[in-house]
Amino acid sequence: MSADRVAQPASAAEPFPGADTPMLKQYWELRRPLSADTLLLFRLGDFYELFFDDAVQGARLLGLTLTQRQQHPMAGIPYHAAPAYIKKLLDAGRKVAICDQTEVPKAGKLVNRAITRVLTPGTILEDHQLDSSRPHYLLAIAADRAGLHAAWLDLTTGDFHLATEAEPARLWPALYALDAREILAPESLAASGAEWDNLSAHRPVSRLPDFQFECAAGARLTKETLGVLNLDGFGIRDGHPALGCAGALIAYATDTLCGKPAHLKQLREYRSGEALVLDPATLRNLEVLRSARGTRDGSLLHAVDATVTPPGARLLEQWLAAPIRDLAELCRRQGCVGAFVAEPGLAAQVREGLGAVRDLARILSRLQNRLRHPRELAGVRDTLRVLPEVRATLAKLPAPAADLAPRIPAFAELAELLEKALADEPPIDPKDGGVIRDSFDTELDRLRGLARGHKTWISDFERAEQERTGIKNLRVRYTGAFGYYIEITKSNLSLVPADYIRRQTMTNAERFVTDELRQREKEILHAEENSLTREEELFRGLVEAVLAQADGLRAAAAALAEADVLQGWARLARERDFCRPVLDDGDVFLIEQGRHPVVEVILRGRAEGLAGARAFVPNDTSLAASGEQIALITGPNMAGKSTYIRQVALIAILAQAGAWAPARGCRLGLVDRVFSRVGASDELARGNSTFMVEMNETANILRHATARSLIVLDEIGRGTSTYDGLAIAWAVVEQLHGAGPAGPRTLFATHYHELTQLEKSLPRLRNYAVTVKEWNDEIIFVRQVARGAADRSYGIQVARLAGLPGEVIARAREILTELEAEGQALQAHVRRSLAQAAPAAGQTATEPPAAVEEPTPPETAAVPQMELF
Ligand code: ADP
Repeated sequence: MSADRVAQPASAAEPFPGADTPMLKQYWELRRPLSADTLLLFRLGDFYELFFDDAVQGARLLGLTLTQRQQHPMAGIPYHAAPAYIKKLLDAGRKVAICDQTEVPKAGKLVNRAITRVLTPGTILEDHQLDSSRPHYLLAIAADRAGLHAAWLDLTTGDFHLATEAEPARLWPALYALDAREILAPESLAASGAEWDNLSAHRPVSRLPDFQFECAAGARLTKETLGVLNLDGFGIRDGHPALGCAGALIAYATDTLCGKPAHLKQLREYRSGEALVLDPATLRNLEVLRSARGTRDGSLLHAVDATVTPPGARLLEQWLAAPIRDLAELCRRQGCVGAFVAEPGLAAQVREGLGAVRDLARILSRLQNRLRHPRELAGVRDTLRVLPEVRATLAKLPAPAADLAPRIPAFAELAELLEKALADEPPIDPKDGGVIRDSFDTELDRLRGLARGHKTWISDFERAEQERTGIKNLRVRYTGAFGYYIEITKSNLSLVPADYIRRQTMTNAERFVTDELRQREKEILHAEENSLTREEELFRGLVEAVLAQADGLRAAAAALAEADVLQGWARLARERDFCRPVLDDGDVFLIEQGRHPVVEVILRGRAEGLAGARAFVPNDTSLAASGEQIALITGPNMAGKSTYIRQVALIAILAQAGAWAPARGCRLGLVDRVFSRVGASDELARGNSTFMVEMNETANILRHATARSLIVLDEIGRGTSTYDGLAIAWAVVEQLHGAGPAGPRTLFATHYHELTQLEKSLPRLRNYAVTVKEWNDEIIFVRQVARGAADRSYGIQVARLAGLPGEVIARAREILTELEAEGQALQAHVRRSLAQAAPAAGQTATEPPAAVEEPTPPETAAVPQMELF
């Protein structure tokens, strides 16, 4: 199988340097079709060797010693240590082609070699190269006049999707959220624009000839690979424009596996209209999958992960990265969590059972693609051992959790076969022997008996012959060249029986064999080889038996992963007091006593080690697209504004992933997109200033938000001068409010308290303040969000808390007093000008929708207790 799709020739006129020996000629024939970013590991005895430029690169990337072979650079890695080296090369964004010997070497003849596998960052299947708790996607994208098309495939599990969008902005976010390991794109795809930059940053991109993205060919290849005549069963029409991408993925996978992927069985269409879309800025700003430092620790994903299996952890990431809007499915997930919450004893049993479950989906993918190790079968056996109990426990739970049980059959026959056949701890390499248990197969037992017992048989035979012939010093010996023989000293030759066959005469003795000894010799010499061959045969049989059930096992694995996520959420719900959100098609978002799922855990951790440390202070939220649409939140720095607005967005994401939420009560009219513009994230490396990033993200929000969206904005306008910033913030709020009867539910945190004036002109805007208490010129943060506006920014008090020297604080107070006197006049002027300059706002201000109540005056008042249910 050629690997030329993975690897385009670096240059068509590649010379044949060093093709002066048959082996190097063979090397170049294999190397020539590979691309420049692929390194060829060429098997030579117990080493994989790199030659020529590969050797130079390999030596640099892997810290190897460069040697010379016939004046050509060469570097080697021991065969046994190859996986660790390959991982390093893949991490460095390289591809690795493995060339193995495909026959037993014979002296004097050039051994046949072939490329048996090409590893690329997105097509790894090997366990030791993968992060077990993360999905591993290979993504193909293409674009034409009809829009943006994409397909993505997790080769490790067979998870396969495609999508097309006439409006590319609706698809880019989902592609980014996949965090693909490698991207395939046609050569002609224009590599420009913020979306492409976002997607391709720090990710290897393989450019392929355009024809490989051709739709009709892609459709044919997809159908052939999935083993179907048409794609109707997957709800995908034959001319779907993303089938070109699907075909490119399959062809690429085929080349890297050096064989067709045998485990692809389903294809799903992603439709942005059914999803809660989270764009890259939102994922980043809200630290959904990764913290700001890029770690899992500190992210939402980490804070709500109570899974016990890697497939569970992977599914959790998929659910959080792509929340949904399907009420029935959300209700099912929430209901399952509820069932586990209601039955803590059964939940604990399920959790314990899951602890013994292995990664079936990935094991099957390897087995189905010829990466077959006996230890993988032990993984299947160990999983099957616990399935009946997990299934029985799930069946005892209330619905809908009990519905998981029938999706996990017992596989009794297969379980019994593996128990009987497989050794307790089989080796990784079948050639090491010891895969199959004793007394599973009589032929194997016989061969093993022979191999093990040959020494005993020889000594028994020697004793018997001594007795039969009466020759006391008769010896049975062995030499490599001669095999087994009976040695009789010259003095005893007269006693040699007639059935002895003379083979060799020595000075003092003669050597004989018998038919029985010859026969035995053959069996003995081949016993070990035969027993290994027999074992391999039986091992293949076991693999076939497992593969015959692959579809069922995969379905069971999916149900187990779900059970894991759901039991984990139930555990959080119990331990951290989460509630079941009420979801509907309405336009409100009410949260009673909501908490930030990540900050809450951090504070709890601190409180445990620190007497007097404060617990998280919960807060309420009340938003409605056609009612209290915009909550404008003021308060000093450090008061808790950012934490509050983020917690609201995170609760929405959790709720639409199907989880319970950190609140006493929560009611959410489904959201189509969550947008956030939070904090200052500089992208100087990509040539964008903080202010530019802020404005880009704000522009994106204003362009794409709908009345179903949820927006959290923090300190808009901070990156420029005060009046510029205030003007922009003011105009953004007006735009979000708009002139219609409803708008996106918005939380707008700001330090510009001038904006609180907008409550008078925008009927769907409400002022809130994160309150602080003043005591002896000190401020105390109470972290409570209440109706009304903050009157001051308390910057100097916060600066003092932060330890700014006393004389600086005193001088700042003097300056502030002067500035405030001047500033009041200036601000009044700015407000007047802004109000006149904004026609949309002017209309809104004069024509408030009749149904909306008058805004309450901006003095601080506690939020009234909400009636949620
Ligand atoms: P702001 O955005 O107003 O400057 P932050 O939201 O960054 O303030 O909060 C500052 C710190 O206060 C946070 O790091 C967090 O530790 C703490 N904090 C915020 N909200 C709460 C809360 N509700 N309960 C307890 N501590 C909080």
